[in-house]
Amino acid sequence: EENHCNGNSQSQLNIPKIKFTKLFINGQFLDSVSGKTLETIDPRTGEVIASVAAGDKEDVDLAVKAAREAFDHGPWPRMSGAERGRIMTKLAELIDAHVEELAALDTIDAGKSFHLGKIVDIPGAATTLRYYAGAADKIHGKILKMSRPLHGYTLLEPIGVVGHIIPWNFPTTMFWLKVSPALAAGCTMIVKPAEQTPLSALFYAHLAKLAGIPDGVLNVVTGYGPTAGSSIASHMDIDKVSFTGSTKVGRLIMQAASASNLKQVSLELGGKSPLLIFDDADINKAVDLALLAIFYNKGEICVAGSRVLVQEGIYDEFVKKISEKAKTWVVGDPFDPKVNYGPQVDKKQLDKILKYIEHGKKEGATLVTGGKRIGEVGYYVEPTIFTDVKEDSLIAQDEIFGPVLSVIKFNTIEEGIRSANNTKYGLAAGIVTNNIDIANTVSRSIRAGTIWLNCYFAFDASCPFGGYKASGFGRDSGMQAIHKYLQTKAVVTPLVNTPW
Ligand code: NAD
Repeated sequence: EENHCNGNSQSQLNIPKIKFTKLFINGQFLDSVSGKTLETIDPRTGEVIASVAAGDKEDVDLAVKAAREAFDHGPWPRMSGAERGRIMTKLAELIDAHVEELAALDTIDAGKSFHLGKIVDIPGAATTLRYYAGAADKIHGKILKMSRPLHGYTLLEPIGVVGHIIPWNFPTTMFWLKVSPALAAGCTMIVKPAEQTPLSALFYAHLAKLAGIPDGVLNVVTGYGPTAGSSIASHMDIDKVSFTGSTKVGRLIMQAASASNLKQVSLELGGKSPLLIFDDADINKAVDLALLAIFYNKGEICVAGSRVLVQEGIYDEFVKKISEKAKTWVVGDPFDPKVNYGPQVDKKQLDKILKYIEHGKKEGATLVTGGKRIGEVGYYVEPTIFTDVKEDSLIAQDEIFGPVLSVIKFNTIEEGIRSANNTKYGLAAGIVTNNIDIANTVSRSIRAGTIWLNCYFAFDASCPFGGYKASGFGRDSGMQAIHKYLQTKAVVTPLVNTPW
């Protein structure tokens, strides 16, 4: 008995009133200079939710001018860290006060679970802000121990005007992971949300103004990647670009930074993360974890556990259990609390996923469950599992970014490690074992930025997050993220009368 239902029932009832659809520049909501707009779509139905300003180069120029003025002459970088922290805390309170409305915006824009939005994404954003609010008055340099009679110290200064370019899969989480440490550091900024999901970002701009963030500090320019996004990457007066998105666009960002003003770059890119399950694991727990790791947020998560590597001794039993249990995942309207996941973000994403599923079949992997679109309205895909997947095949190598799992068998621990590392990516990995030697060895042998031992998606504001290899560089989250938005200046003065 499969629990998948089409999600278009009552969809219109859940659409909140859309209050903000214009660019937010220098504390004001403005139309784009060209007057152009883009339509944002409800993936439950394919219907248009709202027309939103489509920013381009001229709009980015205006936003950068405002941010530069706010950085060079405004109060934000000059006020005490404690004062910035106080305003950020107020902003966190405003987010808490609008949880339902914000979660609903992300649900209609991205097809995300409303229930999880209310308990994870939106409160998590407030937690992130509070974490960095608390850090804002603890940013300082060091006194150096010089080898000669010199007194030397470092100053940590805000890097300047920052451009944040973010994806659609976690519109709220991504916004605050970027903005919060940059605010704490004393930077001013321009955020470009993904064209698929502009709505919550504009709401956050409104809340920032209410909280007392000075005009020009936080600007939001909605628009497409090749226009608004690339204008940020190649801008001559932006000091740093912080990007989260695909590896393909990450390369373009670096090229544009290099060809323009050599602005600093940090990249959080794609992944093909392995979840390794060893013979000694509790098989029922491992099955539940594997399902969560791939199907959470309909597989639209950069750290999705899209390759499950299972040791030979439990492989057959694992495959049997996971294909049965996958059928209990409920797909449908993301406003329904009984639903585990909703529609993929758009038609393009749906088509891409279905194409990969066809590839998997052609490559000779065994499709044990799922494999089809659900219904004809909205972009719903069945939880899909392939077993006996060859580790070099396309579905085991490409980031599908959908609810499609590849199950791969391994024999020895060394083989498991080698297979886990057989990817161009290195974002995250999970390990399920109760054997401490396996846990220690494997954690240290996998080239990825996050290792989850007997858990998955265990995020925390304190935890540095980012990639190895083609998953990018730089760390969002944790104290390390503040340093993305700081420059280190060394100051040296003689202790005795010598010029050098
Ligand atoms: P994408 O790279 O297509 O788009 C991301 C952002 O870049 C969007 O705002 C888009 O408008 C913009 N963009 C597109 N072309 C651009 C250009 N030429 N110049 C400047 N900006 C441009 O990615 P996506 O499809 O929106 O998101 C999915 C990807 O993001 C996946 O690969 C996923 O793994 C990755 N992702 C990574 C993380 C992480 O933290 N590592 C988190 C979430 C998503």
